[in-house]
Amino acid sequence: MPTKKTVRTLSKKTTEHEFYTSIPKGYRVGRTKYIIIMGSVMSGVGKGTFSASLGNLLTTLHGFKVSPIKFDGYLNYDAGTLNPYRHGEVFVLDDGTECDLDLGSYERMIKKGLTKSSYLTGGKIFKDLIDKERAGKFLGRDVQFIPHVTGEIKGFLRKLAVESDADIVMVEVGGTIGDIENAYFIEAMRELAYEEGKENVCFVNVTYIIEPKSLGEQKSKAAQLGIRNLMSLGIQPNLIVCRSHNPIREKIKEKISIYSNVPVERVIGLSNMESIYHIPLNLMQKGVDKSIMEILNLKSRKNGSKEFDSWVKLTKMIESAKKTVEVGITGKYTEVHDSYISILKALEHSAPYEDAKVNVRWVETSKITVKNVSEKLKGLDGIIVPGGFGSRGAEGKIECIRYAREHDIPYFGLCLGFQMAVIEYARHICGMKKANSTEIDSNCKQDVICILPEQEEIEELGGTMRLGGHDVVVKKGTQAYKLYGKGLVRERFRHRFNVNTTCIETLEKHGMVFSGMAPKKRIMQILELPKNRFHIGVQFHPEFTSRPLEPNPLYLGFIRAMLDKKRR
Ligand code: GLN
Repeated sequence: MPTKKTVRTLSKKTTEHEFYTSIPKGYRVGRTKYIIIMGSVMSGVGKGTFSASLGNLLTTLHGFKVSPIKFDGYLNYDAGTLNPYRHGEVFVLDDGTECDLDLGSYERMIKKGLTKSSYLTGGKIFKDLIDKERAGKFLGRDVQFIPHVTGEIKGFLRKLAVESDADIVMVEVGGTIGDIENAYFIEAMRELAYEEGKENVCFVNVTYIIEPKSLGEQKSKAAQLGIRNLMSLGIQPNLIVCRSHNPIREKIKEKISIYSNVPVERVIGLSNMESIYHIPLNLMQKGVDKSIMEILNLKSRKNGSKEFDSWVKLTKMIESAKKTVEVGITGKYTEVHDSYISILKALEHSAPYEDAKVNVRWVETSKITVKNVSEKLKGLDGIIVPGGFGSRGAEGKIECIRYAREHDIPYFGLCLGFQMAVIEYARHICGMKKANSTEIDSNCKQDVICILPEQEEIEELGGTMRLGGHDVVVKKGTQAYKLYGKGLVRERFRHRFNVNTTCIETLEKHGMVFSGMAPKKRIMQILELPKNRFHIGVQFHPEFTSRPLEPNPLYLGFIRAMLDKKRR
């Protein structure tokens, strides 16, 4: 077993032997434990949800400081240039990192305030490594997958451990075992366990038990082969989580156990549940926390926890919610619902506080016109126009917003939805018939929405938008102020366009109130129409800061307004 001293020595002579491994200053082996979560059989089985729930349990019930990190195998530097309709939503952290939607689950379930240190892509590893090579950091040496790429990865995890002073670094490896994309990452995890010692690293494999309709019974072979694949890479899983549609039968667990050398008590069944908030309690009932603490030789830091009780209370509120509201979301390629996951989560966790459940209806706007809008929006208690890019369906969205405004149906515009509400108002109330955004029509003369001045010179498209957390000054006496209950809030942004400052006066003169602004720049950040019960647009994404135990006040206000509309 390598001791603290061994690992330190290894880091010194990086160019002369095969033990290149970077150890950040202040790192102590054994101070931080690692939980490595990998998937087999197929992707999309809920590794992220499991990781977030496990992190929640270890934090809220046991008092550990858990720092989650996601590894994504693709060669993009970050998620900012990925298409959300292919890959799912791009989540934005306060520091402006554009990342995988799993970080949204971590922030909602484990802790706020994650940073770029919690997200690593293949692209970032290689870029950083090649930058170092160009700087001459490896002079005389052939730079190799092993030890340099794997060393870079271990270094990144250890840096996170030191920076966040974590008791546990929880690593979710994106993709599936057997993918070329994550093979070097998995190798790095094997090395990490070798260097840190067995009692400091716990491997969890999340697998899937298939149940073909034609057979009507559960089959474990695919899972067995997946786990065997992992073992052939030199990794012995400590715990296996079997995801499935129906509860796992005992016989299946036994088969998996004998095949994988994992005791049957550590083969856990996790079938579909009512909500993600039910999973931490379920994991506790199945003893997952105890097993992990045993494997890592950790003792709980708490004896009962109010915070954990609040999570359990939330599940009860979800189960007992009596009212329902139906919200229409105008989404592009609406069949990929993960593209809007934070919005769905914000609605889902806000509604129970008002004793309600939210049903979502997707509204395809590319065919919406003045003539059919009332029919298309029939029965809806509220409308959301979410964030987006480009012109597709824009006119239909504007019709929806107009309909909502004229019929006092609660409207919530998020980023692009804020900009569309400005265009709608300019066209139909301020008499600017040709009003538009230069994103949609670059030659537009009445450009009420235009590019941010700070964005004009930018040419590269990756990571260059106005990103991350910014302060919003909320005007006293407005609906927004009433909802937030304070005059200064911090919200997260991801945009290039904004309200044209030359149009603000006209819009205001005609009754639009800009109730939230940037503190030092003339960037409008919240709009509202005081005569409507809820016609609010925000240039930011309140869904990125909404948390199950602390829903974003604007989401709560929107739910209340929908209930109010339904009552009358
Ligand atoms: N496309 C708009 C902009 O860049 C809105 C962005 C968004 O909705 N996130 O400003």
